Amino acid sequence: MKRDYYEVLGVAKSATNDEIKSAYRKLALKYHPDKNPGNKEAEEKFKEINEAYEILADAQKKQQYDTFGHDATGGGSPFGGQGSYQYSSGDFSNMGDIFGDIFGDIFSGQGGRRSDRASSQHRRGEDLRYDIDISYIEAMNGAEISIDIPKQEICSSCHGTGSKDGFAPKQCLQCKGSGQVKYSQGFFSFSQECPKCHGKGTIINNPCLDCRGEGTVKKRKTVKVRVPAGVDEGTSLKVSGSGNAGTNRYPAGDLYVVVHMRSTPGFRRDGDNLHTEVSVSFSQAAMGVEYDVPVLQGSVKVKIPVGTQPGTTLRIREQGFPKLGRKNRGDLFVKVNVSVPKSMNDAQKRALFEYAKSMGEVPKDSKYQSDNFFKKIFG
Ligand SMILES: [Zn+2]
Ligand SMILES: [Zn+2]
Repeated sequence: MKRDYYEVLGVAKSATNDEIKSAYRKLALKYHPDKNPGNKEAEEKFKEINEAYEILADAQKKQQYDTFGHDATGGGSPFGGQGSYQYSSGDFSNMGDIFGDIFGDIFSGQGGRRSDRASSQHRRGEDLRYDIDISYIEAMNGAEISIDIPKQEICSSCHGTGSKDGFAPKQCLQCKGSGQVKYSQGFFSFSQECPKCHGKGTIINNPCLDCRGEGTVKKRKTVKVRVPAGVDEGTSLKVSGSGNAGTNRYPAGDLYVVVHMRSTPGFRRDGDNLHTEVSVSFSQAAMGVEYDVPVLQGSVKVKIPVGTQPGTTLRIREQGFPKLGRKNRGDLFVKVNVSVPKSMNDAQKRALFEYAKSMGEVPKDSKYQSDNFFKKIFG
């Protein structure tokens, strides 16, 4: 069972955006993986908090969630057991913002500057982002896509230990593995990067030459991404554990694949709905016709009713895009244009003249008579 997002962030349903943001920051600081290295429970909690924030910080998603609950956010995995994909049609700029804030807080709190060495401290691998272009047909059917990304991988020479002789890194005695040493001066105490292990917390006596003791090396890696049917512009697919490898047996980061839509000429996507146009003749519009409307793949039979006016839009239910993570689909909208023949043969002109006469559209002295159209037949 998924917990209620408001409960996760510990705010009331009536909470303002600022209250939500502030609650999120407090919790994210507490459970941030950097502050809880190797703590699985904190990691899960951190994920839960992020998911809740992503929904509640976005006015539109919040409203959907308020109305439909977890169903609205596609939280379930349509792959059943696989479970390694989660959907969040979220924008990352949002997350980047708040993370900037959090890192600011963490490091100002410690009173230390974040040096380059400190950032190479053993820790969970970084999350990565990769953008892909998806065609309408792929979004309609779902697809499996291989992407080639450069990322940090566990060093195969030392199996990630960073040690040439296979001995696991030893805890640094000077900082007792924390990577930081505390100094006191009067009332003040402050911590600094450990000078012995340069903030890593461990010492490798005989570093691996291939990874220079880091335990990871940069490599190009092919990652298969299952793109579920119904993805749209901005959908982000999370591939757990496919980000940068962590060092010293810390878990790998996640890969976020962000979808962009490539449109198909003649079609327009609007949410889960697909829009297209057809052109029928005057007589088809007047008498009605069953029309094969071309869609992304093949065609759909559409009944154009008797007396359809130019510009009428017909709605064909359940012929649009699948709704992400759900069984139903959007609709197909077909705008019907009526085309007027640019030329006709004599028999056709005569027939149309008879029709016009029957409609009382041919006055005796009308300009119709002087028109080329009729002159040729009757002139
Ligand atoms: Zn140390
Ligand atoms: Zn190595």
